[in-house]
Amino acid sequence: MRVIGGQGGGCIAGAVRLPDAAPGLQTIRLPHSAFWGHPDTIAALLELGRRAHAAGLPDLYMGDISGPRGGRLAGGHFSHQMGLDADVYLDVSPHPPLSAAARDSLTPPSLVRADGRGTDPAVWRPEHALLLHMATALPGVDRVLVNPAIKQQLCNTVTGDRAWLRFVRPWWGHASHMHIHFKCPAGQPLCQAGPPPPPPGDGCDASLQWWFTQLDHPAKPEAPTGRPAAPPPAPPPLPPACRAIMDAPG
Ligand SMILES: [Zn+2]
Repeated sequence: MRVIGGQGGGCIAGAVRLPDAAPGLQTIRLPHSAFWGHPDTIAALLELGRRAHAAGLPDLYMGDISGPRGGRLAGGHFSHQMGLDADVYLDVSPHPPLSAAARDSLTPPSLVRADGRGTDPAVWRPEHALLLHMATALPGVDRVLVNPAIKQQLCNTVTGDRAWLRFVRPWWGHASHMHIHFKCPAGQPLCQAGPPPPPPGDGCDASLQWWFTQLDHPAKPEAPTGRPAAPPPAPPPLPPACRAIMDAPG
Protein backbone atom coordinates (compact mmCIF):
# COMPACT_ATOMS: atom_id res chain seq x y z
CA MET A 1 0.00 0.00 0.00
CA ARG A 2 1.49 3.30 -1.09
CA VAL A 3 0.00 6.77 -1.49
CA ILE A 4 2.18 9.17 -3.46
CA GLY A 5 1.81 12.83 -4.34
CA GLY A 6 -0.76 15.47 -3.58
CA GLN A 7 -4.08 16.75 -4.80
CA GLY A 8 -2.57 18.23 -7.96
CA GLY A 9 -0.98 14.96 -9.01
CA GLY A 10 -0.62 11.62 -7.34
CA CYS A 11 -1.27 7.93 -7.43
CA ILE A 12 -1.98 4.96 -5.23
CA ALA A 13 -0.86 1.34 -5.20
CA GLY A 14 -3.05 -1.16 -3.42
CA ALA A 15 -6.37 0.64 -3.87
CA VAL A 16 -9.56 -1.32 -3.28
CA ARG A 17 -12.89 -0.81 -5.01
CA LEU A 18 -16.08 0.28 -3.32
CA PRO A 19 -18.80 -2.32 -3.97
CA ASP A 20 -21.55 -1.14 -6.29
CA ALA A 21 -24.05 -1.82 -3.54
CA ALA A 22 -23.55 -2.06 0.20
CA PRO A 23 -25.81 -1.35 3.18
CA GLY A 24 -26.94 2.25 2.83
CA LEU A 25 -25.19 3.10 -0.42
CA GLN A 26 -24.98 2.43 -4.12
CA THR A 27 -22.66 3.67 -6.85
CA ILE A 28 -24.14 5.67 -9.72
CA ARG A 29 -22.93 6.82 -13.13
CA LEU A 30 -20.77 3.71 -13.42
CA PRO A 31 -19.55 4.43 -16.98
CA HIS A 32 -18.40 7.92 -15.94
CA SER A 33 -16.98 7.34 -12.50
CA ALA A 34 -14.18 5.53 -10.68
CA PHE A 35 -14.67 3.90 -7.33
CA TRP A 36 -11.18 2.92 -6.14
CA GLY A 37 -9.70 4.22 -2.92
CA HIS A 38 -7.33 3.68 -0.05
CA PRO A 39 -8.68 0.86 2.14
CA ASP A 40 -9.28 3.37 4.95
CA THR A 41 -11.27 5.58 2.56
CA ILE A 42 -13.42 2.68 1.43
CA ALA A 43 -13.95 1.53 5.03
CA ALA A 44 -15.05 5.05 6.02
CA LEU A 45 -17.50 5.27 3.11
CA LEU A 46 -18.99 1.89 4.00
CA GLU A 47 -19.34 3.17 7.57
CA LEU A 48 -21.09 6.30 6.27
CA GLY A 49 -23.57 4.07 4.43
CA ARG A 50 -24.25 2.06 7.56
CA ARG A 51 -24.71 5.15 9.73
CA ALA A 52 -26.97 6.82 7.16
CA HIS A 53 -29.06 3.68 6.84
CA ALA A 54 -29.33 3.41 10.63
CA ALA A 55 -30.52 7.03 10.72
CA GLY A 56 -33.29 6.23 8.27
CA LEU A 57 -31.77 7.92 5.22
CA PRO A 58 -32.25 6.37 1.79
CA ASP A 59 -29.29 4.75 0.04
CA LEU A 60 -26.52 7.26 -0.57
CA TYR A 61 -25.51 7.71 -4.18
CA MET A 62 -21.75 7.46 -4.52
CA GLY A 63 -19.78 9.30 -7.23
CA ASP A 64 -16.10 9.51 -8.09
CA ILE A 65 -13.41 8.27 -5.76
CA SER A 66 -10.23 7.48 -7.78
CA GLY A 67 -9.00 5.28 -10.58
CA PRO A 68 -7.52 1.85 -9.76
CA ARG A 69 -4.05 3.41 -9.53
CA GLY A 70 -5.06 7.00 -9.00
CA GLY A 71 -3.78 9.63 -11.38
CA ARG A 72 -5.94 12.12 -13.17
CA LEU A 73 -9.49 11.04 -13.81
CA ALA A 74 -11.21 11.50 -17.14
CA GLY A 75 -13.40 14.57 -17.03
CA GLY A 76 -10.73 16.86 -15.65
CA HIS A 77 -10.95 16.13 -11.94
CA PHE A 78 -7.71 17.55 -10.57
CA SER A 79 -8.16 16.07 -7.14
CA HIS A 80 -9.31 12.45 -6.64
CA GLN A 81 -5.80 11.29 -7.60
CA MET A 82 -4.72 9.35 -4.52
CA GLY A 83 -7.73 7.39 -3.29
CA LEU A 84 -8.34 9.95 -0.54
CA ASP A 85 -11.27 11.88 -2.07
CA ALA A 86 -14.87 10.80 -2.54
CA ASP A 87 -17.94 12.48 -4.00
CA VAL A 88 -21.19 11.59 -2.24
CA TYR A 89 -24.44 12.97 -3.64
CA LEU A 90 -26.65 14.96 -1.31
CA ASP A 91 -29.88 13.29 -2.36
CA VAL A 92 -31.91 12.35 0.70
CA SER A 93 -35.28 12.12 -1.02
CA PRO A 94 -36.89 8.70 -0.70
CA HIS A 95 -35.95 6.65 -3.72
CA PRO A 96 -36.47 3.05 -4.72
CA PRO A 97 -33.59 0.79 -5.77
CA LEU A 98 -32.62 1.76 -9.30
CA SER A 99 -32.18 -0.41 -12.34
CA ALA A 100 -28.62 -0.62 -13.65
CA ALA A 101 -29.52 1.61 -16.60
CA ALA A 102 -31.13 4.22 -14.38
CA ARG A 103 -28.10 4.29 -12.09
CA ASP A 104 -25.77 4.85 -15.01
CA SER A 105 -27.58 7.96 -16.24
CA LEU A 106 -28.76 9.47 -12.97
CA THR A 107 -28.10 13.15 -12.31
CA PRO A 108 -29.10 14.03 -8.74
CA PRO A 109 -30.64 17.49 -8.34
CA SER A 110 -28.86 20.64 -7.23
CA LEU A 111 -29.59 21.90 -3.73
CA VAL A 112 -28.67 25.44 -4.73
CA ARG A 113 -30.80 28.11 -6.38
CA ALA A 114 -29.89 29.13 -9.89
CA ASP A 115 -28.53 32.48 -8.69
CA GLY A 116 -26.13 30.72 -6.33
CA ARG A 117 -27.17 32.81 -3.34
CA GLY A 118 -28.99 30.22 -1.32
CA THR A 119 -30.26 26.70 -1.17
CA ASP A 120 -33.46 25.79 -2.97
CA PRO A 121 -36.17 25.61 -0.27
CA ALA A 122 -38.01 23.04 -2.37
CA VAL A 123 -35.01 20.71 -2.20
CA TRP A 124 -33.19 21.45 1.08
CA ARG A 125 -34.12 19.20 4.00
CA PRO A 126 -32.81 18.85 7.56
CA GLU A 127 -31.50 15.42 6.57
CA HIS A 128 -28.89 17.16 4.41
CA ALA A 129 -27.39 18.71 7.54
CA LEU A 130 -27.52 15.31 9.25
CA LEU A 131 -25.65 13.70 6.37
CA LEU A 132 -22.99 16.42 6.25
CA HIS A 133 -22.52 16.13 10.00
CA MET A 134 -22.06 12.36 9.63
CA ALA A 135 -19.44 12.88 6.94
CA THR A 136 -17.35 15.19 9.13
CA ALA A 137 -17.42 12.58 11.89
CA LEU A 138 -15.93 9.76 9.80
CA PRO A 139 -12.48 8.48 10.74
CA GLY A 140 -9.66 10.28 8.94
CA VAL A 141 -11.74 13.07 7.41
CA ASP A 142 -9.77 16.24 6.70
CA ARG A 143 -12.64 18.38 5.35
CA VAL A 144 -15.91 18.22 3.44
CA LEU A 145 -16.38 20.60 0.51
CA VAL A 146 -19.81 21.95 -0.47
CA ASN A 147 -21.21 24.90 -2.40
CA PRO A 148 -21.03 28.18 -0.40
CA ALA A 149 -24.84 28.34 -0.37
CA ILE A 150 -24.97 24.96 1.38
CA LYS A 151 -22.43 26.10 3.95
CA GLN A 152 -24.46 29.26 4.48
CA GLN A 153 -27.59 27.17 5.02
CA LEU A 154 -25.80 25.23 7.74
CA CYS A 155 -24.54 28.45 9.30
CA ASN A 156 -28.09 29.78 9.41
CA THR A 157 -29.83 26.70 10.78
CA VAL A 158 -27.57 24.38 12.79
CA THR A 159 -28.19 24.69 16.52
CA GLY A 160 -26.47 23.06 19.48
CA ASP A 161 -23.16 21.49 18.51
CA ARG A 162 -21.67 23.63 15.75
CA ALA A 163 -18.06 22.50 16.13
CA TRP A 164 -18.38 20.23 13.09
CA LEU A 165 -19.17 23.18 10.83
CA ARG A 166 -15.45 23.97 10.94
CA PHE A 167 -14.83 21.00 8.67
CA VAL A 168 -17.51 21.83 6.09
CA ARG A 169 -15.78 24.18 3.68
CA PRO A 170 -17.13 26.24 0.76
CA TRP A 171 -15.93 25.56 -2.75
CA TRP A 172 -17.03 26.19 -6.33
CA GLY A 173 -19.70 23.85 -7.67
CA HIS A 174 -20.57 21.02 -5.31
CA ALA A 175 -24.25 21.92 -5.48
CA SER A 176 -25.51 18.34 -5.71
CA HIS A 177 -22.70 16.46 -3.96
CA MET A 178 -20.22 16.81 -1.15
CA HIS A 179 -16.55 16.11 -1.67
CA ILE A 180 -15.04 14.29 1.30
CA HIS A 181 -11.26 14.66 1.56
CA PHE A 182 -9.39 12.27 3.83
CA LYS A 183 -6.04 12.96 5.49
CA CYS A 184 -2.86 11.22 4.39
CA PRO A 185 -2.87 7.79 6.05
CA ALA A 186 -0.19 7.11 8.63
CA GLY A 187 3.10 5.69 7.36
CA GLN A 188 2.91 7.28 3.89
CA PRO A 189 5.89 9.66 3.71
CA LEU A 190 5.34 10.39 0.01
CA CYS A 191 1.73 11.48 0.57
CA GLN A 192 1.59 15.29 0.55
CA ALA A 193 -0.92 16.82 2.92
CA GLY A 194 -3.27 19.36 1.42
CA PRO A 195 -3.90 22.87 2.71
CA PRO A 196 -3.54 23.54 6.44
CA PRO A 197 -6.42 22.47 8.68
CA PRO A 198 -9.45 24.78 8.63
CA PRO A 199 -9.04 27.63 11.12
CA PRO A 200 -10.82 27.21 14.46
CA GLY A 201 -14.43 28.32 14.51
CA ASP A 202 -17.49 27.49 12.46
CA GLY A 203 -16.36 29.36 9.35
CA CYS A 204 -19.61 31.34 9.23
CA ASP A 205 -17.77 34.61 8.78
CA ALA A 206 -16.25 36.97 6.24
CA SER A 207 -14.38 34.09 4.66
CA LEU A 208 -17.74 32.61 3.68
CA GLN A 209 -19.16 35.94 2.50
CA TRP A 210 -16.18 36.29 0.18
CA TRP A 211 -17.64 33.55 -2.00
CA PHE A 212 -20.84 35.51 -2.49
CA THR A 213 -18.94 38.66 -3.41
CA GLN A 214 -17.50 36.62 -6.25
CA LEU A 215 -21.04 36.30 -7.60
CA ASP A 216 -21.32 40.10 -7.57
CA HIS A 217 -18.06 40.66 -9.40
CA PRO A 218 -17.51 37.82 -11.85
CA ALA A 219 -14.19 37.85 -13.65
CA LYS A 220 -14.35 39.92 -16.82
CA PRO A 221 -14.21 37.93 -20.02
CA GLU A 222 -11.04 38.41 -22.01
CA ALA A 223 -11.27 41.05 -24.71
CA PRO A 224 -11.33 39.43 -28.14
CA THR A 225 -7.96 39.76 -29.81
CA GLY A 226 -8.52 37.84 -33.01
CA ARG A 227 -5.85 35.39 -31.97
CA PRO A 228 -6.64 31.79 -31.19
CA ALA A 229 -7.12 31.08 -27.53
CA ALA A 230 -4.09 29.83 -25.67
CA PRO A 231 -4.14 26.09 -25.07
CA PRO A 232 -5.26 25.10 -21.60
CA PRO A 233 -2.42 24.75 -19.11
CA ALA A 234 -0.91 21.31 -19.02
CA PRO A 235 -1.82 19.27 -15.95
CA PRO A 236 0.99 19.07 -13.42
CA PRO A 237 3.18 16.04 -14.02
CA LEU A 238 2.77 13.01 -11.82
CA PRO A 239 5.50 12.50 -9.23
CA PRO A 240 8.27 10.29 -10.68
CA ALA A 241 7.56 7.63 -8.07
CA CYS A 242 4.11 7.20 -9.63
CA ARG A 243 5.45 6.06 -12.96
CA ALA A 244 6.19 2.52 -11.82
CA ILE A 245 2.75 2.27 -10.29
CA MET A 246 0.91 3.65 -13.33
CA ASP A 247 2.94 1.52 -15.75
CA ALA A 248 2.73 -1.72 -13.79
CA PRO A 249 1.14 -4.58 -15.76
CA GLY A 250 -2.13 -6.11 -14.76
ZN1 LIG B 1 -14.89 15.65 -5.78
